[in-house]
Amino acid sequence: MNPFAYERVMDDKAAVHAIAANKDAKFLGGGTNLIDLMKDNVEHPSTLIDITRVQGLAEVSNGGAMIGALVRNSDLANHADVRKNYPLLSMALLSGASPQLRNLATTGGNLMQRTRCYYFMDTAFPACNKRKPGSGCAALTGFNRIHAILGQSEECIATNPSDMNVALAALQAEVHVEGPKGKRTIPIAEFHRLPGKTPQIDTTLKHEELITHVALPSSASEFATHSYYLKVRDRQSYAFALVSVAAGLMMEGDTIKRAALAMGGVAHKPWRKKEAEDAMVGKQANAQTFSAAAEILLHGAKGYEHNSFKIEMAKNSVVRAFSLALVGRTA
Ligand SMILES: Cc1cc2nc3c(=O)[nH]c(=O)nc-3n(C[C@H](O)[C@H](O)[C@H](O)COP(=O)(O)OP(=O)(O)OC[C@H]3O[C@@H](n4cnc5c(N)ncnc54)[C@H](O)[C@@H]3O)c2cc1C
Ligand code: SF4
Repeated sequence: MNPFAYERVMDDKAAVHAIAANKDAKFLGGGTNLIDLMKDNVEHPSTLIDITRVQGLAEVSNGGAMIGALVRNSDLANHADVRKNYPLLSMALLSGASPQLRNLATTGGNLMQRTRCYYFMDTAFPACNKRKPGSGCAALTGFNRIHAILGQSEECIATNPSDMNVALAALQAEVHVEGPKGKRTIPIAEFHRLPGKTPQIDTTLKHEELITHVALPSSASEFATHSYYLKVRDRQSYAFALVSVAAGLMMEGDTIKRAALAMGGVAHKPWRKKEAEDAMVGKQANAQTFSAAAEILLHGAKGYEHNSFKIEMAKNSVVRAFSLALVGRTA
C-alpha cells in the first residue's frame, strides 16, 4: 500500500471543499471496496477524506424514499419503511456481500463500487484499460465468465457488480450530489456509464462532487406488493451475480398496469430498457409476456468464449423473477 494522508470532515461543505482542493483525494465511506483496492495497489489516492461523520447523511426519511449517502447497507435493507414500501431494494441489498460487510458499506460507496473484473483487480496483469488507459483488455481473450454481454466496447467488457444499483435502476431512483457550484440531481440511468472508449470512467459524478442522497419516486412504492430480486450466482451466498433481475409489477386484476425491470451482471451499468417494461403493460401476467419482455431487454446481446451461457440464463431469469414477483410480497 502507498502512503496516504487522512482527513476527517464533519459536514458536506467541508467534504466538497476538501475534495475540490485535491485532485488525487478520494472520499472514504465504509472502505470495503476502496481500502481493498488500495491494498492491492489498484487505487492510490494521496488523501482519504473520511466522510462517515458528515452530519445529516445517515438517515432514511420520507417513508423510505429519501436515503442518506451514509446509510449503511444493513440499516437500509432492514428499515421498516423500506421493507414496506420498497421491498425490491431491501431484497437486493440483502443478497449482497455478507452481514459484516453490509454493516460497514454505505449507500454512496455501493453506488460507486468498482468492477470485479479479475484483470482490473490484479496488477500482475498489465493489460486493463480501466486501470491503465491504453494498455488493452485482458478479458477480451482471457477468462471472461463474469463479463458483460450488453453495452460493452472493444476497450472494456467489465460489469457493474452492485445488487443495490439494479434495484435502484428498476425503481428509477435519482442521485443527489453536491459540488463547489451547488447541488444537482442525476437520474440513476445517467449515473453509471457504458465503457465506450473511456472505460476508466465509471460514472458521471465529477471528482469534486459528493453524493448526499438517493431519492426514490413515491410511485415506485406501487411495486411493493409484487416485486422480486433474483440473483443467479456460482455460490448461494457471498458471491457476485452472474445475472440478476430486479422485477416489479403493478397489477389490476390479472392485467399488468405497470412494470419495472432492470438486470445486473450483464453490463457496465444496470441494464434497463423502457420498451421492455412498456411491452408488458396491458398484457396478462404470464410466461409469454415475461419472455417477450426478456427478448426486448436482451436484444443485441453478445457473449464471449466463457460467458455466452449468460444470454439464455438472463432471459430465463427475467421470466422466473417476474413469476416470483407475481406470487406476491416476500420481503
Ligand atoms: C468480499 C466482498 C463481497 C461482496 N459482495 C457483494 C455483492 O454480492 N453484491 C454487492 O452489491 N456488493 C458486494 N460487495 C461490495 C460492497 O457492496 C461494496 O464494497 C460496498 O457497497 C462499498 O461501500 P463502502 O461504503 O464500503 O465504499 P468505499 O469503499 O468507502 O468507497 C467506494 C468508492 O465510493 C466512493 N464514495 C463513497 N462514498 C461516497 C460519496 N458519498 N460520494 C462520492 N463518492 C463516494 C469512494 O471514494 C470510493 O471511490 C462485496 C464486497 C466484498 C469485499
Ligand atoms: S474488461 Fe475492463 S476492467 Fe476488465 S480487463 Fe478489460 S478493460 Fe480491464
